[in-house]
Amino acid sequence: MLPESPEAYYARIASHLGPEGRLAVAVEEMPGWDIYPYEVESLRLKPLLPLAGSEPPRRGEDPAECWCASVAEGPANALPEHLEGFVWRNERWVLTADLAQSLPVFLTLVPVATHCDLPTAPPDLAAEMGQLIVAISAAVEALPSVGRVQLAKWGDGGAHLHLAFLGRPARVLQFRGSPLLDWAENLPDVPEDVLSANATFVAEHLAAAVGGEVGPEHVAS
Ligand SMILES: [Zn+2]
Repeated sequence: MLPESPEAYYARIASHLGPEGRLAVAVEEMPGWDIYPYEVESLRLKPLLPLAGSEPPRRGEDPAECWCASVAEGPANALPEHLEGFVWRNERWVLTADLAQSLPVFLTLVPVATHCDLPTAPPDLAAEMGQLIVAISAAVEALPSVGRVQLAKWGDGGAHLHLAFLGRPARVLQFRGSPLLDWAENLPDVPEDVLSANATFVAEHLAAAVGGEVGPEHVAS
């Protein structure tokens, strides 16, 4: 049997649609779990949209127009503006922290010297990525306010490889599992100085484990 087509996959969903083109909420699945943020009685799924004709192009799909093109043309070790506040870097990778969000830590790891996405990462970069994923995960889980690290690769907006590391708050058991981001959208932001201190903690653990440079704004005083 051959792998099925997008049309066949979509048609199966469409055959389950109810009134107004909506699916029923799967109360026996995740929406019924205690870690799901919303009460089942109040839920209604949005009507299913038509199948798109194709996948839309993402930012930086053409390497010449990706932010990394300026890194190749610029001075050695120079970073584009959006990476200047980095937490940690080496010659091939940069780790940044989001300092306006609600989890103890939200980090993004990107390759800086090579344009690729996850399916196109060259073997040497892929091997180093594996080691960095382990080391960053250990550093995030060493934070007192983190119970577990979560790792994500979405890549629906930007074509340049970027991995996300989320710190799930310690002992808040309701935030376990994949609904964490839905909870996070509704939580109050953590103060910037707390997020910066947490990022510094992770960066220094990471540098001790794998070398590299802690970012200028993230050196503990
Ligand atoms: Zn790129």
